[in-house]
Amino acid sequence: MHNSIITAAVILAVGVLAVWVYGSATISSGIFIDAKCEIEPSDGILLTFDDGPDPVMTPKVLDVLDRHGQKAIFFVIGEKVEAHPEVVREIVRRGHQVGNHTYSHSPYGNFLGREHLEEEIRKCGDAIESACGVRPTLFRPPLGISTHYMSSALKNTGYRAVGWSVRSFDTCDDPREEVLDRVVKDLKPGAIVLLHDRLEKADWLADRVLSEWEKMR
Ligand SMILES: [Zn+2]
Repeated sequence: MHNSIITAAVILAVGVLAVWVYGSATISSGIFIDAKCEIEPSDGILLTFDDGPDPVMTPKVLDVLDRHGQKAIFFVIGEKVEAHPEVVREIVRRGHQVGNHTYSHSPYGNFLGREHLEEEIRKCGDAIESACGVRPTLFRPPLGISTHYMSSALKNTGYRAVGWSVRSFDTCDDPREEVLDRVVKDLKPGAIVLLHDRLEKADWLADRVLSEWEKMR
């Protein structure tokens, strides 16, 4: 009798933990936050670039987007915004959206409590607004990790979370072609693609993804 209660408790605890880990790591799960992970299929695809602005690579990515007539969202880091406000102004000037990706992009920041997270979101929003005059309304959590208080932090700061349906894993060291294949395999109307404009391959990858999409539609 005793043993079966303990077994049931362990199974329950493991189950809760599994759901918690899955919910934290999978932005589209909807367990902790309601993130927009796709757009209307009739609107094509949406490229999103995290971790900028980068003074060298972001302008190159902007040129690629212009060439393809494509608008994107750049989820920027507050500290980098303060270092390169002119790049943020250029993103907005060319008709793209700027989203909030926290002030310091700490890998632990998502777990330090609601107040800490709100502070990170507010500071990044302030940096964006003073750089380009536009108050952002979209948020993407660093590393895509969501937590149980993230939803109330977003409500309190007035943000909507944006996830993705296609993850490129462009930050790992795989050959460029492999990263491209990974994106193209999952590309379909309505896809939101996660990319990083701080990477040396960022403009190449954006150009190839958009070329492949143009062949597909
Ligand atoms: Zn990031």
